[in-house]
Amino acid sequence: MSTAEVGSHLRENPFELAKSQLRRVGEVFALDPNLIRVLSQCKKAVEVSIPVQMDDGSIEVFLGYRVTHNIARGPSKGGIRYHPAVTRDEVKALAMWMTWKCALMGLPFGGAKGGVVCNPKTLSPKELERMTRRYTSEIINDIGPERDIPAPDVGTDGRVMAWIFDTYSMNKGHSVLGVVTGKPLSVGGSLGREEATARGALYCIQALAVKQGMRTSEYSVAIQGFGNVGAHLARLLHLEGAKVVAVSDSRGGAHNPDGIDVPAALAHKQERGTLAGLANAEPVTNEELLELECDILAPCALEQVITEENADRIKARVICEGANGPVTPTADAILEEKGVLVLPDVLANAGGVVVSYFEWVQGLQEYFWREDEVNAKLHDIVARAFEEAWQTRDRFETSLRLASYGLAVQRVAEATTTRGLYP
Ligand code: GLU
Repeated sequence: MSTAEVGSHLRENPFELAKSQLRRVGEVFALDPNLIRVLSQCKKAVEVSIPVQMDDGSIEVFLGYRVTHNIARGPSKGGIRYHPAVTRDEVKALAMWMTWKCALMGLPFGGAKGGVVCNPKTLSPKELERMTRRYTSEIINDIGPERDIPAPDVGTDGRVMAWIFDTYSMNKGHSVLGVVTGKPLSVGGSLGREEATARGALYCIQALAVKQGMRTSEYSVAIQGFGNVGAHLARLLHLEGAKVVAVSDSRGGAHNPDGIDVPAALAHKQERGTLAGLANAEPVTNEELLELECDILAPCALEQVITEENADRIKARVICEGANGPVTPTADAILEEKGVLVLPDVLANAGGVVVSYFEWVQGLQEYFWREDEVNAKLHDIVARAFEEAWQTRDRFETSLRLASYGLAVQRVAEATTTRGLYP
């Protein structure tokens, strides 16, 4: 199945975009062009074929990737994506963004990402398990607690992480908790990990509210995507008293300018697997949702949903990137011109990898923390990164994105220079 056949959401090559962002950071922060050249490439990209016996007895061969962008600051870290439109260059871009995200948060990790070209929604649980176990076997020498640590991403969840953990551990002959994060609690997961990405986004929105002299409860928010990030963000913002005016999933969305009944939306999605038909709301398409009247727009689904095509029609004053790469660089420039503030992905959705870090530490120590401890430590890290990015933005008179990437790239550059180029 080629990307063209499934109708990719990617209009531009994401790796080219990621590299152009890096070059821009190099200019704004006057970084050594030699270093920028080094950081423009991924350290390692593994491509594997994954033959899987389907339930009907036939054999399907899936294509999988695992890419490490950089390990100057520690083992590489990043999710695994199951999606029909996965490409090698998408995984490379996502791996590079993980390097910046981990560095911005001050975590001792480099960046990585994995992906399998498949539609997990059409696979049976048994097929999904066989595919995951074979994929894990194919990359078994590339992952490990000191080497490269996967986690959930689009289309994967705790159940998939448990299979990766089990496959790796069975091959080693003992349980290796630190090989993967986002595991279910019963097999060494961390309290607070599941909602951590959304919680990190909430902490950024709260930090922004302080800067803007607002209360979080005064914001109206439209959320695209109702998976792990979007659904938890809707729930947490609703608990804070904010008005969630629209929500959507891959099949479409619901809008009510007076506020969506978020607990009802969560229950509806749970029961029917979709938001379609939600009571007390008007149907909206995913494209329409982006252009609704609201204070904060949170794209929490896929990359490149805000492009030069629609950037001009965005009415929100703030964009909170729950997804990785939802705003293209051209759209970024248009939004900046319009005075729209973008809370960039590496800041706004970093909560997930921060609590992944906590899970890895807890697994290595076999000592587990209370949920309130996890959340308090997450808050410390995200709030500090927000403040550092905000100050850098003011000092360099640049966007919050360039400020965040700039801080991150400088940290990776410093580690690279200090270590020196081998040999
Ligand atoms: N996939 C998530 C991200 O893009 C989490 C990665 C992780 O926890 O390692 O940040």
